Amino acid sequence: SKTIGVLNLQGAVSEHLNMLASLDGVTPITVKQPEQLSQLDGLIIPGGESTAISRLIRQNGLFEPIQTFAKQGKGIFGTCAGLVLCGSATQHNEVEQLGLMDITVERNGFGRQIASFETMLDIAPIGKQIPAVFIRAPYIAKTAKQVTQLAFVDNHCVMAEQNNILVCSFHPELTADNRIMRYFVEKC
Ligand code: GLN
Repeated sequence: SKTIGVLNLQGAVSEHLNMLASLDGVTPITVKQPEQLSQLDGLIIPGGESTAISRLIRQNGLFEPIQTFAKQGKGIFGTCAGLVLCGSATQHNEVEQLGLMDITVERNGFGRQIASFETMLDIAPIGKQIPAVFIRAPYIAKTAKQVTQLAFVDNHCVMAEQNNILVCSFHPELTADNRIMRYFVEKC
C-alpha cells in the first residue's frame, strides 16, 4: 500500500483525502509537520491561496524538507495554488515558490471575470474527456525543455510533469473522476 500525504495548511484538503480514500491500495494522511514526510510515498499540495500556503510552509518549517522530499524522487502533485507553489517563477513575488519544476506561472491567469469554469480535457497519458474544474486558476506561461506539457485550455498549458513532479491548474478532486489521481499514485 502507498501512503499519500495531503499538505494540511490551508485550502481544499478534505476533497483530496476523500478521493485518495476511494482508491485501492492507498493510505491517505494529512501532513503539517516536516517529520511526517519520511512516511510518505507521495505528497499533494492542494488548491487554496498560494500566498497563505507559502507563508504557512515557512512557518511550519516545511520549505526545505519538501524540496528534499522532491529531490529524493518522491511524487509531488500540485493542484491550482499547489501548481503556483511548485513553480520556479511567477509575476507575483509575494508567493515564495518551492522551485520544484522549471515552469513560469501566471497566477489568476484566466482573469477574474471568468473566475471559475468547468471543461473536458484529453490528457494523452491518462485519458479522454476528463472533467476539470478551474477556480481562479493559474496557467503555465513558460516551460523548460525537461517539462512535458500534458493539457491545454485556450492555448494555455494547464497540466505538466517533470520527472516525479506533476502539476495542474484545476481541481481534479472536485469531480467524481479519479483517473488523474490514479495516474499520480502510480507515479509515486
Ligand atoms: N488564485 C489562487 C492563487 O493563486 C489559486 C486558486 C485555487 O487554488 N483555486 O493562490
